[in-house]
Amino acid sequence: MTGHFIPDNLPARIQHYIDGKHVDSDGGERFDVLDPVSNSNYATAAAGQQADIDLAVAAASRAFKDGPWPHLKARERARILNKIADGIEAQEHRLAELETFDTGLPITQARGQAQRAAENFRFFADLVVAQFDDAMKVPGAQINYVNRKPIGVAGLITPWNTPFMLESWKLAPALASGCTVVLKPAEFTPLSASLWAGIFEEAGLPPGVFNLVNGLGEDAGDALVKHPGVPLISFTGETTTGQTIFRNAATSLKGLSMELGGKSPCVVFADADFDAAIDSALFGVFSLNGERCTAGSRILVERSIYDEFCEKYAARARNIVVGDPHDPATEVGALVHPEHYAKVMSYVEIGKSEGRLLAGGGRPAGLDTGNYVAPTVFADVLPDARIFQEEIFGPVVAITPFENDAEALALANGVKYGLAAYVWTRDLTRAHTFAQNLEAGMVWLNSHNVRDLRTPFGGVKASGLGHEGGFRSIDFYTDQQAVHITLGAVHTPQFGAGQP
Ligand code: NAD
Repeated sequence: MTGHFIPDNLPARIQHYIDGKHVDSDGGERFDVLDPVSNSNYATAAAGQQADIDLAVAAASRAFKDGPWPHLKARERARILNKIADGIEAQEHRLAELETFDTGLPITQARGQAQRAAENFRFFADLVVAQFDDAMKVPGAQINYVNRKPIGVAGLITPWNTPFMLESWKLAPALASGCTVVLKPAEFTPLSASLWAGIFEEAGLPPGVFNLVNGLGEDAGDALVKHPGVPLISFTGETTTGQTIFRNAATSLKGLSMELGGKSPCVVFADADFDAAIDSALFGVFSLNGERCTAGSRILVERSIYDEFCEKYAARARNIVVGDPHDPATEVGALVHPEHYAKVMSYVEIGKSEGRLLAGGGRPAGLDTGNYVAPTVFADVLPDARIFQEEIFGPVVAITPFENDAEALALANGVKYGLAAYVWTRDLTRAHTFAQNLEAGMVWLNSHNVRDLRTPFGGVKASGLGHEGGFRSIDFYTDQQAVHITLGAVHTPQFGAGQP
């Protein structure tokens, strides 16, 4: 490994941002933040508690009730959202270096995240300006129309993989809809989120509309989920955390949108473009260090091309450049945190008794410190294996052969998750039939995950609840009140009008 790159001017203290001010926790609580290459503390962050969430929700409620934001014309909100996108783009270099330093994502991939974050704001700016609602006519009797209203204070809880981009995926539609927000970023990676306040201030977002409380999930996250002043929670994270949040939100009957874990299949038929399928199946699991919800982490390959596929795939995996996340040549960087590294390594060990190890299998040679895992490939993995069933969230892939379409479909659908799926075939009929029978929220035919922002995003089964993306996101953050206008005489049964 070359020298460890440390960005200039790193903050030693990361604070909350409540009601337009950078503040510490009310009770002074803090937690340590590590970088994944040296695994040493580079900062402490304010650890939000109930009291801090109360302050943030109070500020967001005031901004919603008394402030201009929910009442602005869509075009006025869109102007500010576009300025936010400009602000993100202007900071692209800084953002990418902070994200790479804090998460261990390769720098070339962190740059793409900043562009995508800016695009989320531009997209939802366009969408709210173009938005219109239904009116329904009952001739001679009624006109009914939809009065769309922002719901109120949105609670946004986000994970540590691609943190800034995933925060933007929630912030942009929530703000575009006229909601005010309290964001609780992931505790492993609070660094890039500290840029939001400056970007929002410069763009002219009124104080109190955006609030950020750092802290642990069990404290700050839990308080946000249980807060009676927060009518909805948009959550992205692990399925088990989603289940806890679902239970905790029941008391106050909150609206929930849940983007949860995945164990997505990449199905390669013998008639596929073989080289393109290899490229895509490699990128699909080893990009973003394998810490990707939509990773194609189970590759199912038709028997007649299985041996050749395994051999070529493993040769390429062995050749992937693992190393310093800040080096532009790096393809796989360091996993986010020593706890996550230990979890991924435990699956690598489990895999050694569940499959045939073709590549990787531990720490890469020459990288003795930092959370580095060599891209790891197991072949001949049976469907009841833990590495076939469970989300690993690292650079580890299981390959399994199949004989025919029916077996491929049973294998693809044979896990509790249903987030994404990738299918490789040149047969048009098979492609559509197979795609439509997959239990997955999103399917890509002959491609890795390339997504148009208008399309639905979300999983089925244990991978999520509800769909975001395009107008669906706006629907989540707004109420659609039905207003019924009477045009003609209404027949009203005359209760109590009979002879006494
Ligand atoms: P996580 O569930 O551990 O944490 C996510 C967030 O929830 C963090 O901010 C955490 O502090 C908070 N949290 C934890 N416990 C909480 C509680 N009791 N109440 C409220 N908040 C709580 O997930 P992670 O490890 O940060 O992220 C990785 C997971 O996220 C993977 O499972 C991955 O598949 C999933 N993910 C899904 C998508 C998707 O769109 N479907 C996208 C990215 C990541």
